[in-house]
Amino acid sequence: MQQLRGTKDILPNDIIFWQYLYDTASKFFTLSNYHEIRTPIIESSTLFKRSIGNATDIVNKEMYSFIDQGSREITLRPEGTASIARSFISNQLYNSKKINRLWYLGPMFRYERPQNGRQRQFHQLGIECIGSINPMADAEVIRIANSFLTKLKCSNYKIEINSIGNIEERNKYKEKLVQYLIPYRGDLDKDSQQKLHVNPLKILDSKNQKTQEILRRAPCLQEYLTTDSIKHFHSICEYLDLLSIKYSINPYLIRGLDYYNYTAFEIKTNLLGSQDTICGGGRYDLLIKQLGGPNTPSVGWAIGVERLLLLIQNNLIIERNKPYIYIAHRGQRTQNTVLKIISLLEEQEISFELNLENNNFQKQLKQASKVGAQACIIIGDDEVSNKSITIKWLSNHKQENISLINLSTLIARLKDLSSIN
Ligand code: ATP
Ligand code: MG
Repeated sequence: MQQLRGTKDILPNDIIFWQYLYDTASKFFTLSNYHEIRTPIIESSTLFKRSIGNATDIVNKEMYSFIDQGSREITLRPEGTASIARSFISNQLYNSKKINRLWYLGPMFRYERPQNGRQRQFHQLGIECIGSINPMADAEVIRIANSFLTKLKCSNYKIEINSIGNIEERNKYKEKLVQYLIPYRGDLDKDSQQKLHVNPLKILDSKNQKTQEILRRAPCLQEYLTTDSIKHFHSICEYLDLLSIKYSINPYLIRGLDYYNYTAFEIKTNLLGSQDTICGGGRYDLLIKQLGGPNTPSVGWAIGVERLLLLIQNNLIIERNKPYIYIAHRGQRTQNTVLKIISLLEEQEISFELNLENNNFQKQLKQASKVGAQACIIIGDDEVSNKSITIKWLSNHKQENISLINLSTLIARLKDLSSIN
């Protein structure tokens, strides 16, 4: 049996990177008072239609939706922010705190053409700063993304930011953009032609060269921004300058989701081919209100975990867990001693692997070296008769016979040694 197209198993050799990422994120985000939230993977389809927007690629082509046995329209979440906004409202998180700083890591689902760095089940790690209109909040989330990547020894990236204004500004601009593009309609790429009347702003994002050439002389969104948008954007840039965070302003940067306003930003790398965006984010001041909650301006971002790991995995040196002790045993009467040793090791939190093959001691010792154990505890008929065990140190091949009466002393010694290791 094969796994489904666009899905991947994360095997034990890779999971150590995921565990490292989770642990680092958890410690790092806590420093800035961000707290983990886990929302369900399934939500009502209307949540995403209403928040992400009907004209977007995600809602139009990429959602995994189905009708459940109670005739409800359900969707596997394609991203995290909409679910968090829903959770913020349904749990009335606004009652306990003025600002809710949250982070999450979990699987997301989008029906897309699978490629390197593009899957149908993928993972996002994200943060949301909910409840502030202050440009300092925008700068805060960008700072956290930047220092988190630095913490992970990731250096090959650049931050791009833009202001996409508010709805009125964008609507005015949309009109002008469409007017400008109509005469060139036939020269645009297919995808952009389709977007012309549905979601024209997304055309700015097109990777097609000819479309980009046409866009070079197009009206610019910045010309339609009013004082408030411009002031907000300038303040963010000032904060980023004060923080010495390098960024560039990309006037063509548009995010693929409807709910953003003012700030949009992306973090890109040139090491991953065409899947070059590792992080995308922005401000969403109207989303929570639009979903039935109180007026709650917010800002956040999401990192694609698979893309991030492709980028950093080679720079990270993470020790794989190896058993400290290998338990070799052979014979009918060894059971009691084996079980006693296991409970002592477990109690003292010393890692071990128990042989399950009952093959000869030579083979069991070979296996002990192969799994990287430091010592092998050997229990055979002789040991049972003498009420003892043998311990063999695999580094220098020395061995000692230890009476069961002294077993606790041995285990205490092993505990000290294993904690030094
Ligand atoms: P793209 O333009 O690459 O499709 P997007 O704009 O659809 O990205 P966002 O919705 O902003 O992506 O999601 C944030 C991040 O999640 C992306 O920058 C990317 O790193 C990651 N991501 C999005 N879709 C996928 C996917 N299908 N597989 C793996 N990672 C993804
Ligand atoms: Mg996409």
